Amino acid sequence: MLEQTINFKITQTPESRVTQVDWENLPFGRLFSDHMLLMEYSNGEWQTPEILPFGPIPVHPATSALHYGQAIFEGMKANKSPEGDVLIFRPEMNAKRFQESCERMGMPLIPETLFVECVRKLVDLDREWIPNKPGYSLYIRPFMFATDEFVGIRPSDNYKFMIFASPVGAYYSEPVNVLIEEHYTRAAEGGVGRAKAAGNYGASLYPAKLGQLKGYHQLLWTDAKTHEFVEESGTMNIVFIIDGKLITPSEESDTILRGITKRSVIEVAQSWGIQIEERKVTVKEIIEAVKNGSCTEAFGAGTAATIAHINKIGFRGEDYYLPAVESRSFSLKMEKYMNDLKNGLIEDEFGWLLKA
Ligand SMILES: *Cc1c(COP(=O)(O)O)cnc(C)c1O
Repeated sequence: MLEQTINFKITQTPESRVTQVDWENLPFGRLFSDHMLLMEYSNGEWQTPEILPFGPIPVHPATSALHYGQAIFEGMKANKSPEGDVLIFRPEMNAKRFQESCERMGMPLIPETLFVECVRKLVDLDREWIPNKPGYSLYIRPFMFATDEFVGIRPSDNYKFMIFASPVGAYYSEPVNVLIEEHYTRAAEGGVGRAKAAGNYGASLYPAKLGQLKGYHQLLWTDAKTHEFVEESGTMNIVFIIDGKLITPSEESDTILRGITKRSVIEVAQSWGIQIEERKVTVKEIIEAVKNGSCTEAFGAGTAATIAHINKIGFRGEDYYLPAVESRSFSLKMEKYMNDLKNGLIEDEFGWLLKA
């Protein structure tokens, strides 16, 4: 019924580009579907959402987001079931997190139902862009930024909320190597680490590059104060299996992004009877556990990669290797479960899928 109450102004592309897609060679995040959504905030309210052909937008040089960083984003995925239904994974969770990001960044909130309807409408229109291949999805990127044309520091009065979509394959083609970072910091208490703020990424690129030069795909961030506690991996939350228990840093600290993938993994694991420990996790115990063999599995959890198996953890010049991926019964079972669920191959027992 909501669909009827929200008006969309839709301008369809005269010619779809979907027939030109080389589905065998999808580069991650470089190809965009036919349409995008744009909704402007002005005069204290959200205006009618528009869907229009994908393309560049004009940007005024004084656009405040470019100077002062009021910019946030989200990421989620849609898949197609064997019956051809479009299934979007837990978009209301993204809507809620988007609101939290808006609040922390001093930006106007978007009602949850409006956010979800915007996603649904765009995905429905571009449903031909959802890949029909295992491991492939339509990645959906909602984002919002400050658009006041004004050089002066205060929260903007005007914003653009936009969504585009990109058909994607696997994010990582191999198990990932992570490096424990003890000098640089992603997020400090009281900062914006819990928000999905663009600037969090801007600040992490340089330290991540230094890690890459040493041969690691990603950093494993530690707490800003002591660097003794493991936090997350920047685009992914971190999960360990130690002595058969699922152990992961708790999200009480506002320095960790509350990932929807990790939350889903925990909820599924709980239903399987796995013991869960969400608590502070020390670097020391992880290194010990990998060394003595009690840590049998470790993976990053995030929308882009879903489950990214970790191959080795670098710490103070040493590499600590995890057991072969083939032996990781929990991660492999979870990976399959999540993929099957998202693709409508098994029952949606948690009610996580929204049909577009
Ligand atoms: C998006 C993101 C994640 C993963 O969250 P999901 O909701 O699972 O995609 C983890 N850490 C950071 C910093 C992120 O931005």
